[in-house]
Amino acid sequence: MLKSEDIVYACTCDFAGKTRGKGFPASDMEKRLKRGIGWAPTNTQITCFDAIAPSPFGALGDRVLIPDAATRVTLRAPEMGLSEDFVLGDLHTTDGQPWALCPRSILKAALERLKRVAGLTVVASFEHEFQFRDAGMARGTAYSLQGFRPNRVFAERLMGAMREAGLEPDTIMKEYGVDQFEVTMDPAQGVTAADHSVILRQLVYAVAESCGHAATFTPLQDPAGIGNGLHIHFSFLDENGTPATHDPKGKHGMSAQASAFAAGVLRHVDEIMAILAPSLVSYGRLTPHRWSAAFNNLGVQDREATLRICPVSAMSDIDTARQFNLEFRAADACASPYLQLAALVHAGCQGIEEGLTAPDATEEDLASLAPDLLAARGLHRLPTSLPDALEKFEASTHIRDWFGADFVEVYRLHKQGEIDFLANNSVEETHRAYALAY
Ligand code: GLU
Ligand code: MG
Repeated sequence: MLKSEDIVYACTCDFAGKTRGKGFPASDMEKRLKRGIGWAPTNTQITCFDAIAPSPFGALGDRVLIPDAATRVTLRAPEMGLSEDFVLGDLHTTDGQPWALCPRSILKAALERLKRVAGLTVVASFEHEFQFRDAGMARGTAYSLQGFRPNRVFAERLMGAMREAGLEPDTIMKEYGVDQFEVTMDPAQGVTAADHSVILRQLVYAVAESCGHAATFTPLQDPAGIGNGLHIHFSFLDENGTPATHDPKGKHGMSAQASAFAAGVLRHVDEIMAILAPSLVSYGRLTPHRWSAAFNNLGVQDREATLRICPVSAMSDIDTARQFNLEFRAADACASPYLQLAALVHAGCQGIEEGLTAPDATEEDLASLAPDLLAARGLHRLPTSLPDALEKFEASTHIRDWFGADFVEVYRLHKQGEIDFLANNSVEETHRAYALAY
């Protein structure tokens, strides 16, 4: 009698922020953990629209995707229309070295740098916003129980799926935007934090589908509407596992190391924006008065700051030093979270190596200040388009040291391929294409 066989899908989360890979019989897992699966280097140039950007590899070469068993997600709930089995992993060269273009390996190298220069481990949580493309909910449902109610089944399934996958659910809500939701989870250390972001995005797609909805993480579905942010919260632990982000006597309550890290991120933010907000529609979201981010500023509890010092609560069961965290708000989910966290860590390490101190937090609406007043305070608009961000990425004197020259060239070609693919599309068509792709 014919019996169907369980398949594990082994994946990388690539330059397009897409989770791609290959399946194999689950019974081969042990073998595959050693042997991996074959992967063409040119796959890295498959853009979010599936068109292949110019590739230095052509049809040549092979890489090997080695699954990391600790990341495996198995959700078998056919009664809910859910059947998932996937695992994340690292791309190696055929002689077993981490591949220079493997996003997860790039993050590992960045985290090693942080350990080396500062003795710190990063703890992070990716806060995701997304929309249903097709729910057509009435206006008047922002943050409301009325907006949440028809989606309770979705939300409860998602919480269950997250927990089953090893992600600790934190909160979920009907966000402000049309058919928009936000879900948060507990922080995790190092690479695991980025793994959790990859997994969460897939769970949202899968659970939404099981409820008859199509979810999108596109940064901006409607050019005139509300954006979907990806806010990256982070803090540090020292070598003893003690929280190392907070110092009540430090600048804005930050430890000297956190302050230097924040300064590095803000000094180099223009150079890394092509990684953190990597789509053509990312930059419509990064405009003033959208509660996203538009300037290279630090803010204390300010929801329009690129880097926000988050509130701590005296009523929490978690002590202040452990609650204290920073939030990078200018990112979105068109990127690989591995590359995003790597970019923040490298920029932050640079700040630590150079002994920088965080700038003064801004307190006013920066959009109302004249450019010369802003400039006098070291403030300016973030890049305003993907081509602008790519120019700053390429011109950076640091990015090649941090990521390697090969990465910079191939990533630039990838993004150029994505831009070229949409060259003849209208603004509406471009937004639509991203909403379908993410
Ligand atoms: N939707 C906003 C964004 O694009 C964020 C709103 C919030 O503060 O949660 O980042
Ligand atoms: Mg939100």
